[in-house]
Amino acid sequence: MKVKELLARFHAWQISPFHYSEEGLEEHHCANCDHTYTGNYCPICGQAADVGRITWRSVWKNILNVWGMDSKSLFYSLWQLLWRPGYLIGDYINGRRQQSYSPTSMLFIVALFYVLVTNWIDPTPIEIVNESDTELVLLMKAIDWLLNNPGWGIMTITMFFIPPTWVLFRFSPRNNHHTLPQGAFIQLFMGSLMLIFIFFSETVSGIFNWLIPLYYYIAYRQLFGYRFWGTTWRLLLIINVWLLLIVTLVAIAAMCENISTFTTAQLTGYLVFDLFMLFTIFIILFIGYRISKKTSQAHDNATR
Ligand SMILES: [Zn+2]
Repeated sequence: MKVKELLARFHAWQISPFHYSEEGLEEHHCANCDHTYTGNYCPICGQAADVGRITWRSVWKNILNVWGMDSKSLFYSLWQLLWRPGYLIGDYINGRRQQSYSPTSMLFIVALFYVLVTNWIDPTPIEIVNESDTELVLLMKAIDWLLNNPGWGIMTITMFFIPPTWVLFRFSPRNNHHTLPQGAFIQLFMGSLMLIFIFFSETVSGIFNWLIPLYYYIAYRQLFGYRFWGTTWRLLLIINVWLLLIVTLVAIAAMCENISTFTTAQLTGYLVFDLFMLFTIFIILFIGYRISKKTSQAHDNATR
């Protein structure tokens, strides 16, 4: 009974961790512009009501601010991302932003931390290219650069999740018809999580890599509201589309880089392959889209 109660309270916290109350609002005197008002912020100049005497606490808060680590931001947002990923992302894309750190800054600060620590452990830059035995020098150099700049690298990897998520979760019970820019913010948050788990898998144990698919499941389930199978099959399709997109792009890059030395037959072969891959991606997304639409209509009819 005790455990059940705790779980219920945890779940309530996951859905809505912040409470804003209008009770007990005292009158404040703004230290910045001399205006007298009630509320947490001065309506004239925007200074917070709790700004007053300089104390050691305000010095400490100021130092933390340099790194974007004041009490309500980076660390707390990361903490929330670990315990209520989908709900936090849902809050953010729906405009409840007061309690969340900017996901782009979050990703790049996590990336900076990642680079600092991994370079400290092993300062040799990652290099997967041996330039003599590949015809894809440019592509390989790009991949090397992305591996050495994990903020941009993770952004590139997760970018390919945006379109399939947008198509397959159009008719979800929660956050349906999300826009592509909202989709970009979803992936920026997921990118931070991914990078944290990659960091731990490289410094502590490879087991942490398994948290990436698990967290995609948890986050998408909380964010879009499908149950186990509804979330799982859509995520599997997204991973499929993701792989196919990457293979297609590599093929296109290979084609562009070597186009001057190609015979007509080789060129045709590449073009046919690319078109076939794009067509496959389209078919997968189309089928997923139709099933989602059908089941959401069936659900609507049942509840009507
Ligand atoms: Zn003021």
